[in-house]
Amino acid sequence: MTRDRVAELDYLQIIDKLMSTEHSDNFPWLTPFSKILDLENANGFSNKSVMGGLDKFLIRWSESLSRFCSLHNLSDAFCSPIYTGLSKEQRSVWVCNWNDVIRNELQRSRSGQTRDTGIKSSRDIKCLPADGLTLGPERFKKPPVGLKVNSPIDRLKGVDTKLSARFKRLDVATVKDLLYLFPRRHLDYGNVVKIADLTLDAECTVVGNIWEARQISLGQKGRLKATEAIIGDDTGNIKVVWFGQGYLANSLKANATIAISGKPEIYRGHRTFQSPEYELVYPGREQIHTGRAVPVYPLTEGINARNMRRITKQAVDDWLGGLDDPIPGYILQRHNLLGLQQAVNQAHYPDNSDSWYDSRRRLAFDELLILQLAVLQRRRHRNLTMSGVSLNVDSLVVNKFIDSLPFPLTNAQQRCVLEILENIRTGTPPMNRLLQGDVGSGKTVVVLIALLVAISAGYQGGLMVPTEILAEQHFQTIASLLGAVADSRFNNVVTANPEGLSKPISIGLLTGSTPAKVRREITSRASDGSLDLLIGTHTLIQSGIDLPNLALAVMDEQHRFGVIQRSELRQQGLDNPHSLVLSATPIPRTLSLTLYGDLDISTLDELPPGRQPIPTRFIESDNRDVAYGFLRRQIEEGRQGFIICPLINESESIDAKAATDEFERLSKEIYPDLSLALLHGRMTSKEKDRVMRVFRDGEVNILVSTSVVEVGIDVPNASVMMIEGADRFGLSQLHQFRGRVGRGEHKSYCILLSDDPSELAKARLSKLEQFNDGFKLAEADLELRGPGDFFGTRQSGLPNLKMAHLSDRDLLADARKEANALLEKDPDLSQEIHRLLAKEVSGFLDQASSEFS
Ligand code: ADP
Ligand code: MG
Repeated sequence: MTRDRVAELDYLQIIDKLMSTEHSDNFPWLTPFSKILDLENANGFSNKSVMGGLDKFLIRWSESLSRFCSLHNLSDAFCSPIYTGLSKEQRSVWVCNWNDVIRNELQRSRSGQTRDTGIKSSRDIKCLPADGLTLGPERFKKPPVGLKVNSPIDRLKGVDTKLSARFKRLDVATVKDLLYLFPRRHLDYGNVVKIADLTLDAECTVVGNIWEARQISLGQKGRLKATEAIIGDDTGNIKVVWFGQGYLANSLKANATIAISGKPEIYRGHRTFQSPEYELVYPGREQIHTGRAVPVYPLTEGINARNMRRITKQAVDDWLGGLDDPIPGYILQRHNLLGLQQAVNQAHYPDNSDSWYDSRRRLAFDELLILQLAVLQRRRHRNLTMSGVSLNVDSLVVNKFIDSLPFPLTNAQQRCVLEILENIRTGTPPMNRLLQGDVGSGKTVVVLIALLVAISAGYQGGLMVPTEILAEQHFQTIASLLGAVADSRFNNVVTANPEGLSKPISIGLLTGSTPAKVRREITSRASDGSLDLLIGTHTLIQSGIDLPNLALAVMDEQHRFGVIQRSELRQQGLDNPHSLVLSATPIPRTLSLTLYGDLDISTLDELPPGRQPIPTRFIESDNRDVAYGFLRRQIEEGRQGFIICPLINESESIDAKAATDEFERLSKEIYPDLSLALLHGRMTSKEKDRVMRVFRDGEVNILVSTSVVEVGIDVPNASVMMIEGADRFGLSQLHQFRGRVGRGEHKSYCILLSDDPSELAKARLSKLEQFNDGFKLAEADLELRGPGDFFGTRQSGLPNLKMAHLSDRDLLADARKEANALLEKDPDLSQEIHRLLAKEVSGFLDQASSEFS
């Protein structure tokens, strides 16, 4: 039954095409005709192989047929249109006779070397190993004489300067980079089937002959060009359409063997491949676009998927042998890992899913080992060689300050304070610590205690934050916690008189909007040492403020921090000031061990008592009006709200545009009577600050924002956080958004919206409904999505892990163990056997530190 349908030939199309391509010295209808005969045979000679009957085919080809018949001395019965009138028995004889003639003819013409490669089944396609290819040692070709794998990629055939520039956008400069440009995934085209056995909507490959291919015009006024082809094998035929690719018709010659990979669908009543992958098949040439697990690479403008495959394949085929394995063989053996060349080969063109898995494991191990070596080596280096300043802890000052607070410290705060003070008291090695704690866990107080200790010991402290408004917020909070009074001449400077200190302390605020005169004053007080604490934005403080007595540098809400910390501020003060980095994104332990292996970590895992959880609900988008209504009622009660726009992609400009559209829509259609403001990443920091300020000051009811609002600003009057496209954000990030409300006395709410969330996404979002604890959410997020997404790649500052998942706990443990053992034996990796490894580690460090500049 299916066979009948497949067998229907779009007769006229074939004729048109074949007439125009006929050559005097051959008969291009021969192959299609032989397929038609096969189909007749298979269909019991029901005359259904050609739409309208087989005679139509004969009539259309009558001229060429009679030439053929006279050439072969065949009787009229062969080439006259008589088939329809024959009985089934007669037809079978007729078909049989024709079959003999054609077989002879095809054999004769093939005795040279012709187009029909005779591919009969998947096993004949070279790339498909029939019987589980073993991953024994394979030899790969070395680069051309005199060249190395780290030669620029324009050494590859077909790569010119222009293309090289495009590759740069993918961070590919050398052939080695290209070898390490791993596919994002593979298309499962290894399932090679006969046309008759095709199932709809399943990815597969068919191999057949082109019966015809032509350009067609579609759409109104025929503007859309397409190529339409009929492909047949010995079981049937199928239509293929490539939309928008009319030019393809020219390269698809009738009779050529072609492989088509994709999913057949019903199109205009026929089973059709729509814009599938395709590849002409030649004997002895390996397929790269079809018929196997086909790599899907990251692309950029001017490099399409096929081009990319051809070029990477060239690198793999002709250069891979030049790639040296940095990991000593004994380590590979111990962990049963593939050789590097083989692993890279399999990463691009895996023989099967097992071999891909082995390859990923090997390459992931490399990444983790190098990362661990870098981090541990740094840590060792610091511990062995760096001496820091030992700060005398004046317990009177500390205790008096704690007593002055309107609340007792939580246990977690006490613990973290002790960890930090012990660290700076000892002094050597200098503190390099991460203080992590959920939004609202009370990091500021902990930090302030440490700063007071540094100041009371006679040194300066610095506090850097990412935005102006946050700097102001910290300045005000700290001033009020210390009961400071404003300097009579400069309101950017306050003086405080904490109990127990021998002299008053002076605190300055430095931001982009600090007037030049005030800035000069603060800068000069900072450099003569009379300013004790400087609070300001990262950018400002990093651009050359001199703090000669700086003993403790604190960086707040710094998302972009990773393995290798920036150290500008540290370098400006004493030789090795203590450093404390704050994060409100709790980091699961696996991640912190790996990525922050050179940091000590203090964790505020407890919220101050009496915090109200923020009810969180996922609302189906059909009920969006209910959500809008809820927000409106809150505003009528005097509150404010946030609406976060969905994250569209990694480009800020596209997100900004979408947020602008959404802002317009909300302002015009939903809340025309309210006052709305817009915040997005393409605004200058001045503009952003201005918007945040008017929102904080209550002049605006609703702030419509992209994810830039995440950073820890306090708007105590805001009580609703509404997040559109919630399924596109990570749980940790959503939790951060949620932390923007509930900062005051008002009961607050978080509403999650999503247009068409998958079941998985719904399950993920429900975690946010269940948990208010950032650590639980972070663990869940990491399990579900992996570290890149965990932080949001845009601001992650994570090392470039291509193959490793940080949920690979066992592999991570192995890598960590090996890294420790290696450094135990060879602390500088200076032994010959570790030479290549040392090179990789220093390359990694270079890359990591350049990412932070
Ligand atoms: P975050 O960790 O998000 O920076 P903050 O330091 O801004 O948190 O503290 C959030 C709020 O909790 C502030 O208003 C702060 O005064 C208050 N707070 C801090 N510690 C305690 C505590 N131990 N008990 C009660 N409230 C506290
Ligand atoms: Mg904070």
